[in-house]
Amino acid sequence: MMQTINWRDFIHENDKKAIDALKSIPGFDQFVKAFMKVFNERSMKILNMSSKVRLSPQQCPRIYNLLPPICEKMNIEVPDIYLELNRDPNAYTSGDTYIFITVTTGLLELMNDEEIQSVLAHECGHIVCHHVLYSTMGQMVLNGLVEMLGLGGLVNTALSTAFAYWMRCSEFSADRAAAVFCGGPERVVDVMLRLAGGTQEIASEINAELFMKQADEYADYVSDSKWNKILEFLTLMNADHPFLTVRASVINQWCQSERFHSIMAIANREPLQNDGKHCPKCGNPIEQDWAFCRKCGSPLQNKA
Ligand SMILES: [Zn+2]
Ligand SMILES: [Zn+2]
Repeated sequence: MMQTINWRDFIHENDKKAIDALKSIPGFDQFVKAFMKVFNERSMKILNMSSKVRLSPQQCPRIYNLLPPICEKMNIEVPDIYLELNRDPNAYTSGDTYIFITVTTGLLELMNDEEIQSVLAHECGHIVCHHVLYSTMGQMVLNGLVEMLGLGGLVNTALSTAFAYWMRCSEFSADRAAAVFCGGPERVVDVMLRLAGGTQEIASEINAELFMKQADEYADYVSDSKWNKILEFLTLMNADHPFLTVRASVINQWCQSERFHSIMAIANREPLQNDGKHCPKCGNPIEQDWAFCRKCGSPLQNKA
C-alpha cells in the first residue's frame, strides 16, 4: 500500500475521457500553440493586483488562513488568492506557472468558514489534478476572451463544446479532492446546497438526501450508455443547478466506495511529508545522506 496520497490518482473517469476527447479535436494542438504564444501571465497578475483584493495573513486573515492547511495536505505551494467584488457566489482558479484562486464577495457572503474552506479545497483539487492551464484556456474560449487575443479563427463549435464538457467533468475530480480534505462528502454537498438554495436560511431547509436523490432519478431514467449524453446535454444547456444535484450525488456515492475509505485511512495517518525520514513525493523511507530519493528520484532537502 502506498504511504502518501497521490492526489492525481483519483481523477474521475469522465474527466480523463473528456480531456482525451478534447485533445483529439482537430485543431486543438494548433490552438494550444497559438494560445501559449499570446497568453501572458504577467498581465494577468497586473490585472489581479489592480482590480482585486489580494488576501494575505494580514489582509482578511480569517479567510486567508483557511488556505495554507489545504495546500500543506495536498503538498502544493500556496497560490495567491484574490477577492473579487461580484455578487454572484463563485470561485475559480487560473494560470499556468503563476496560479491564483479568485473568490467573489458573493461567495463569502453566502457561506460559513467551513463551506468556504471546502470551496478552496475544491479549487486546490483543480491544482493537484493539473487542470488549471486547460481550464484557463477553456474559460477564455467560453467567455470570448480568445477572440480579443486574435485566436477566434482557431476556435470552432466542436472545440468550445469539448472545452465546456471537459470543464464540467473536471469538477468531479476536484470534488473528490475536496471530499478527501474534508474527510467526507458532507461539507462538499453543503456547498452545493448553498449554491442551489441561495441564502443560509433557505439552504438549511433543503434536505440534502432528497437533493441527491433528485440526481439519482436522472440516472435511473437513462441507461449507463446515455449518462454521458445527459451530462453533455446539461453542459450545452449551461444549466448549473441540475448539474449541482448530479455532482452532489456523484461525490456522495464515491465517498461510500472502498477506494475512498482506503484513501481516508492513509489521510488520517500521521503526515509523513516533513518528518525527514520519508520522501515527501512517494513516502519511501530515506537515509539522512541521500540527495535524491532512490525510489522516485525526487530531490531531497537534507538538513545537513
Ligand atoms: Zn471547479
Ligand atoms: Zn520518492
